[in-house]
This record gives sequence, structure tokens and C-alpha cells, in this order.
Amino acid sequence: MAYLTLKGINKIYPNGYHAVHDFNLEIEKGEFIVFVGSSGCGKSTTLRMIAGLEDISSGEFLINGEYANDKGPREREIAMVFQSYALYPQMSVYDNLAFGLTLQGVDEDVIDQKVKHVAHILGLTDYLDRMPRALSGGQRQRVAVGRAIIRKVGIFLMDEPLSNLDAKQRVTMRAEIAQIHRETGATTIYVTHDQIEAMTLADRIVIMKTGYVQQVGTPYELYFKPANLFVAGFIGEPPMNFIRRTVHDGCIQIGDTKLDISAKLGTLTKTYEGKDVHFGFRPEAIVLGKQDNAYVLDAKVELTEMLGDNTNVYVNIADANAILKVNPHDTPETDSDIVFSIPFDRVYLFDSETENVIDTEGATAAV
Ligand code: ADP
Repeated sequence: MAYLTLKGINKIYPNGYHAVHDFNLEIEKGEFIVFVGSSGCGKSTTLRMIAGLEDISSGEFLINGEYANDKGPREREIAMVFQSYALYPQMSVYDNLAFGLTLQGVDEDVIDQKVKHVAHILGLTDYLDRMPRALSGGQRQRVAVGRAIIRKVGIFLMDEPLSNLDAKQRVTMRAEIAQIHRETGATTIYVTHDQIEAMTLADRIVIMKTGYVQQVGTPYELYFKPANLFVAGFIGEPPMNFIRRTVHDGCIQIGDTKLDISAKLGTLTKTYEGKDVHFGFRPEAIVLGKQDNAYVLDAKVELTEMLGDNTNVYVNIADANAILKVNPHDTPETDSDIVFSIPFDRVYLFDSETENVIDTEGATAAV
């Protein structure tokens, strides 16, 4: 049995706004789940319903198979870390960490032991006497995480916990959160709009758009087997390139080049005759020059960005634009004409009407 079950969950706010539609998910004990999507897509609302801070309009929430819709936040055995650290400014780091346990009437020796253990895990041992104002953003966030993990809870909820940190601190804290999860083994649900955080932290990602779940899967599945155009475009930086074209005789035309996509459409070739598809490929999937078993395209280089480990090449392919990732030693000249190849098995086709991936063998095996 799953540890947490969300069955057909909906959230309609009192003003009538339908923020979450038919959310279904089963979470195993110890899993690290990330809800990702653009701002306003319903991530926090879903997290708050799990926390018991927001009523569930319809559907069922189960903990260990037991109906939990009506349970208050305390009965759910959760700890939550928010975007704002919510530390007590007049208390030292030690007291901030100890506070929850003190309230519960836990023995002072036990508290002391726990505070020191958590401080050790989070690298806060030397800061226990400091006040929050004398800490950096990253250190404050660590105290906030420490306050959550000091109590033994079943479910650990985090809502954009790193968004107030600078880029470097975010990377450090991200690694620390992964480490804490390994050490505590707590079931974690983590909300972020940042796909890198989602990809690096999650066992499974739930990707949402305007209140609807788009896909649930491992980072690998979302990257290599996106269910639809939204997921394909959201995960990956730079994003997947898309070129929209109408299918004629199993082919699409890009500039002077005719690409035969009938092998990829397979038995659906007839179905797509006269219909639009999005031809998709990731920037790093290409190879400069001509290659066998690949679509070969001519392009004009508009701009290059040398990033050290690779170069992003912005190109024009007839009336379409794309970004190609190339080895920095092969960076082409701006304004030059180039030829590049996209191996057949690195191409995705999407139905332009439904926006769903056209699930042919070539597309799903594109690794
Ligand atoms: P996210 O966490 O993905 O940024 P939220 O879950 O916070 O999104 O919000 C989802 C949608 O619900 C947004 O359009 C937001 O404006 C709306 N919303 C959030 N809280 C309320 C509320 N109390 N009343 C009405 N609408 C709300």
C-alpha cells in the first residue's frame, strides 16, 4: 500500500477559482517527490492540501490507506519549510532549533542532544549562539530546515525553500537537502518552479500546468520520454527545439529540405496526412555535418554563446529558429552556413492539435 494517496483531488477556492483539477498520485514511504511548474499552476495549493492547511474540495487524501481529508495539520505528522524562513528573530539558533521540542515538553537533555545532532548535519555547530540577523541567507535557511527535521515526522513538505538564496547558495543547499533526505529517509514533497532543482532532487517529478498534472515520472523519463509538448519544452535548458509543419505524403518541408517522417509516424502516417505536427529535437542531440540515419538540415548561424563546456549556437533553418549545443572547439562563425544532422532516434513528433507526443517506437527509444 502507498504511504500517501491522492485520489481525484480538486481545489476550488471560495471565489470559484478551480486551482487544482483531478490530481492523482501515490507516494511510497521515503520517496522524494517534486512538484514543478510555472508560477500559479497549483503546486502550493496541492502541497497545502497535503499539509492540512487548505481544505480539499473533492477527492480523497489517504495516509497509510486511512482517510485523512479531515485530519488537522498536527495529526498528519508533517513538518513544513516555507520560502520565508520564519525564524524567531529574538531567539538564538539553538533556541530556534529547540523551540518545537520545548513546546512538546521534551526532556532538556534529549533536546540538547537533538539540537547538536541536527546542527552537526547542517554545519551549524559554530553558529548555535548567534541570532538569525547575524546569519547569511543560506545559514538562515539551514536553521529553518533544521527546525523541520529535528522532530521525527513522517512527511517533510518544502515550498520553494531555496528561492531567497543566491545562485551559489542554492546549489550548496540543494546538495544538503539531498543529503538530509538520504540520512533521514523522510518522505519528502518539494515544490519548485526550477526544473534544475526538480531534476537533481526528485525520485519522481510531478509536472503541472494550470492546475492539471501533465506527467509523473523519474527525471530520466520526463527528459527522454516527455508525454507532451509542454513537458518537452519545460524540462531541459536550452529547451527542446520545435518546428511546426504540415504532413504531406509522410513528409514535412523545412526550407528546401524535405524530411520523410513516415518511418516515425509508422501506422499513423495516413492519419496525419494534411495535419500539423511539431518536429522536436534537443539542442544537444545534433551532430555538425552530414551523418547517416539522421535528418540533415542546412542552417545559418545567427549568434553563438561560448559557455566553456559547450557552445549554444542560435540558428535559422529557413523560417524556423533553433538552438544547437556544440563542442566549444567546433564553434561555427556567426553568419556562416552550416549543415547539421539529427539522428532519427533523437527526434520527437507531437500532435499539434492535442500537443501529445506521437508515441512511435523511435520517439520513445530516443536516448
Ligand atoms: P503555485 O504554487 O504553482 O505558484 P498556487 O497553488 O499558489 O500556485 O496557486 C494556484 C492558483 O490558485 C493561482 O492562480 C492562484 O492565484 C490561485 N489562488 C491561490 N490562492 C488562492 C485563494 N486563496 N483564493 C483564490 N485563488 C487562489
